[in-house]
Amino acid sequence: MFKPDQCDFCGKCLESCQWMDVDQSDAVLWMKQMAAGQETPVLQHCITCYACNEICPTSANPFDLIASLQHRHFSVTPEAAIQATEARYFFSGQMKEAPRHDRIMTTCVFEKSHPALFQGSLYDLPKVGGKPFFCWVLFSHMGAVGVQNAHAAELVSRLAATGAKEVVCFHDDCYAILKKIAPEEGIHVPFRPVHLAEYLVERLKAHRSRIKPLNLRVAYQRPCASRHTPEKEGYIDELFSLAGVERVEREYDREKALCCANVKLLLGQGDPEPDKRKNVMDALNHKADLLVCLCPMCIQALSDTAHPLGLPVVFLGDIARMAMGEISV
Ligand code: SF4
Ligand code: SF4
Repeated sequence: MFKPDQCDFCGKCLESCQWMDVDQSDAVLWMKQMAAGQETPVLQHCITCYACNEICPTSANPFDLIASLQHRHFSVTPEAAIQATEARYFFSGQMKEAPRHDRIMTTCVFEKSHPALFQGSLYDLPKVGGKPFFCWVLFSHMGAVGVQNAHAAELVSRLAATGAKEVVCFHDDCYAILKKIAPEEGIHVPFRPVHLAEYLVERLKAHRSRIKPLNLRVAYQRPCASRHTPEKEGYIDELFSLAGVERVEREYDREKALCCANVKLLLGQGDPEPDKRKNVMDALNHKADLLVCLCPMCIQALSDTAHPLGLPVVFLGDIARMAMGEISV
């Protein structure tokens, strides 16, 4: 949620944007115009990477302002297309009985689409997923953040119905909804959302004697939703350290991370290939052995560019599995 009282119109958010070339005077002017509810070129050109929410020095959430205006003015996706997509994801069937357990994992829609990412002992816990547990973050990438927020309470209540005290979020987007967006929308979350990286760290520590250090250099691909909850970055670093891998200090990591760019296709904003190549070349130039992704969508987006250049793309969970000797390097 945009916090106008915390915005001093410094313009840093738009000036720092890696997807638009905005000078300070336009940045200040456009932020003032958008805070007054007006349309600016930002609404068409923002690729919804959420980075400016993290960059804003006063935590005023500038992307949330952009997102609400994109939806109000249907700047990037026509209203009919938003409604059709919402109908496609809406679950109107009978809920199956959910597992009841103190700790469950929510898999969003990925267990069916990416079964290879759920193999091994790390995923041996009760799981929920599929359409009833879809997190709707896709809609903020479509310029329809209101759809995402409108369904947040339903997701929280379905997860709460399992009686779980802790919900491990396989997907970073689900964690962002449960940890930040739902509470900001005034929705009470009656369980503790656990980030996948925190869970993996806990599991590695519990099996420390099985860990064989991988001795690899990895480039990390931060997913866009990680900008909503940057405080869990420490778990990513701890996981790499436990697994014996070095996170290379490349240009497009940490605050300067580059979105995987596939959202440009969704928004009709041109060819994402040059952006992907820039990202992959940065990893190679910093002598990374692997490109490690937390989000399955980033794996999908970057593999076709990285593989021909000799850079394997690996899921974060598979780093933990490799360190535990479950899969080979
Ligand atoms: S949202 Fe933050 S970075 Fe952007 S103008 Fe306001 S205070 Fe500055
Ligand atoms: S969300 Fe990303 S693309 Fe959009 S204005 Fe912010 S930094 Fe730029």
